[in-house]
Amino acid sequence: MTNYKTSDVNGYFGSYGGRFVPPQLEAPIAEVAAAYAEAVRDPEFLAEWEQLLADYVGRPTPLFFAKKLTAECGGAKIYLKREDLNHTGAHKINHCIGEALLAKRMGKKKLIAETGAGQHGVALATAAALVGLECEIHMGAIDVAKQRPNVLRMELLGAKVVPVGENVVGGGALKEAVDSAFEVFARDYKDTMFAIGSAVGPDPYPNMVRDFQSIVGREARQQILAKEGRLPDALVAAVGGGSNALGLFTEFLDDADVKIYGVEPAGKNLEVVGEHAATMTHGSAGMIHGMQTLVLQDEEGNPNPVHSIASGLDYPGVGPQHAFLKETGRVSYQTASDTETLQAFKALCRHEGIIPALESCHAVAYAMKLAAELPADSVIIVNLSGRGDKDIDYVAEKLGI
Ligand SMILES: *Cc1c(COP(=O)(O)O)cnc(C)c1O
Repeated sequence: MTNYKTSDVNGYFGSYGGRFVPPQLEAPIAEVAAAYAEAVRDPEFLAEWEQLLADYVGRPTPLFFAKKLTAECGGAKIYLKREDLNHTGAHKINHCIGEALLAKRMGKKKLIAETGAGQHGVALATAAALVGLECEIHMGAIDVAKQRPNVLRMELLGAKVVPVGENVVGGGALKEAVDSAFEVFARDYKDTMFAIGSAVGPDPYPNMVRDFQSIVGREARQQILAKEGRLPDALVAAVGGGSNALGLFTEFLDDADVKIYGVEPAGKNLEVVGEHAATMTHGSAGMIHGMQTLVLQDEEGNPNPVHSIASGLDYPGVGPQHAFLKETGRVSYQTASDTETLQAFKALCRHEGIIPALESCHAVAYAMKLAAELPADSVIIVNLSGRGDKDIDYVAEKLGI
């Protein structure tokens, strides 16, 4: 049977994954890999993580039957896995607390990471404050200026925000932030652990982040069995780097009757380079952030510019396990446009009283289409990965409110 759930011992999912880092990062990352392999087999480590998820994050999150949205679509019952109700408002805290506990166990003093729009930075700064570690977040200078509220949150939580790439033509963005965070990690790894923001990067990060997120699907499986007495017909989740999607999917990957859909951003125009971020649809095999995966790239292998209405999906690569799940056909990758995403946002606000993250709305948009095509007794679970308070100004402007 195909092993969909994890990589081989070298971090490969089929031909994707691996660990491609400059020599100065080999020792630091090997140390993280060894420490994680040991921690994940230690019941005490896992018990501490689960206790914090229960008492601090508020898990288990509810599995909510969206009755009015279901009636509106006509067809399958739509259930929402409410990751938006986690402390800090999204799924990222699940793996950030895991990474922070690992760093503490390794005797490190500091967590370091890059962030794009700041969501990962805020979740990590939260986990660092909780566990008692310093935190340093590298962020593109343009993003620092654009994402003032998240910069303030990180600083209030005690993190140091380092703006990167002021002198880069076009301004600093995520790529420069990653390079700069890795540079500090290579230099200071005696005291520091690098904590990645999704199921991406060199081995062991894609496996580690997936493991910490898999609690989402373990809960959802129990909850749907309790509510419906059977497994769902379909799962739907948005895919940026791929952590919330793998969080929901993992527990169901070996259940052949459960259809699984990952949804990526078609943006403004799926056929124009720079106007979407649909890596699974238009990407080709390549190298990015220390891993072999699908990449939106030009002929020289430089990452293409990307666009999505949801900054958390705005990434020209994808986690290597998703590239593998596409190749094997186990997961079907679909797209939702900016326009469809905004309609889903409105639908969830009006029909269910939930203001969702624009990232999550990509999954909701596809689930609404899928529900209409399926018979009325079928069941869909959507991962509602985050809440939308961060998006309201932008959405109001787009909708002309
Ligand atoms: C960051 C983010 C995502 C995208 O990241 P994945 O690793 O693909 O899950 C999706 N939803 C929300 C709310 C996010 O903050």
